[in-house]
Amino acid sequence: MSVYRKFSISCEYFSGFTKNINIEEFDSLDEIIVSVVSSLESILIESNLEMLVKKLRTLNFHVHDYNFLDVLTSADNRVFYICSHC
Ligand SMILES: [Zn+2]
Repeated sequence: MSVYRKFSISCEYFSGFTKNINIEEFDSLDEIIVSVVSSLESILIESNLEMLVKKLRTLNFHVHDYNFLDVLTSADNRVFYICSHC
């Protein structure tokens, strides 16, 4: 069974990057954050955007105001933001 939730990056450089995540494949919010950021990194590397890859690696991605349980139990149209602003 697949249960998808939408995760979107909120960031000075990478805002708007959004990925549908099958939450059945994850056991924690940290794993989801790593997966979303890794997907973005792969796209930047494939596109030879070296400066943006370096920038991405300096950022500290995290979430506010929700936890893994909220993700599991939310309405499926909610967008979960991943922050690098603070
Ligand atoms: Zn923040």
